Amino acid sequence: MQKKKCIAIDGPAAAGKSTIAKKLAEKLDYIYIDTGAMYRAVTYAALQQGVDLSDEEAVFAILKQSKLELKHIAGVQKVFLNEKDISTEIRSPEVTHFVSQVASYLSVRERLVDLQRELGRNGGVVMDGRDIGSTVLPFAEIKIFMIASVQERAQRRHLENIEKGFASNLREIEKEIEKRDWLDSTREHSPLCPCLDSIKVDTTGKTPDEVLHEIYQIVISKD
Ligand code: C5P
Repeated sequence: MQKKKCIAIDGPAAAGKSTIAKKLAEKLDYIYIDTGAMYRAVTYAALQQGVDLSDEEAVFAILKQSKLELKHIAGVQKVFLNEKDISTEIRSPEVTHFVSQVASYLSVRERLVDLQRELGRNGGVVMDGRDIGSTVLPFAEIKIFMIASVQERAQRRHLENIEKGFASNLREIEKEIEKRDWLDSTREHSPLCPCLDSIKVDTTGKTPDEVLHEIYQIVISKD
């Protein structure tokens, strides 16, 4: 049997990473890990506790005192905070609005990166995020950097929001995505940027199945 690899999928907001990472993990019988969900969970917890999100120490204190877990139930990743399933809540526009600020804090990143490395320790994972290939799993056998036009990313997120029953405005989403990309790529610690050994995959105008096929070919070419 082939050794189970680590597959890192990075890229800007709403580039289709989670859809593809999930399908790829299923196809390979690997575990899918959505690291963005962890930053979202910390943001959600901090909002719930009413802490000042510009206060790194206060946000980190919330993370330290919370029990944050990723569980895979019937192949689907669920996020639990202090035993409560918050998988839906972390996708709210409010969490989305503040998450990049929380993710810019070094103390928060170090703690979450430790958890992520632990999850990837034995291989057999498809992990998506912003810094997986550069920081979390620098030795990943496969590193994909997924991109798509802002217009297409906004359109996809808009449809997702409607499906989830969240209020949604296409123009606002476009602005939010641009702002989040800017914050994520200009922050001091582990900014979003393709690493030298990553393979760029542009998903603009492609169906999820086409992108999955493209990435699967990359994965098997490394066997
Ligand atoms: O992937 P998703 O859009 O859910 O990520 C939410 C936010 O979490 C990103 O905009 C980014 O600020 C942060 N993030 C990060 N590093 C990761 C994953 C997500 O900084 N590995």
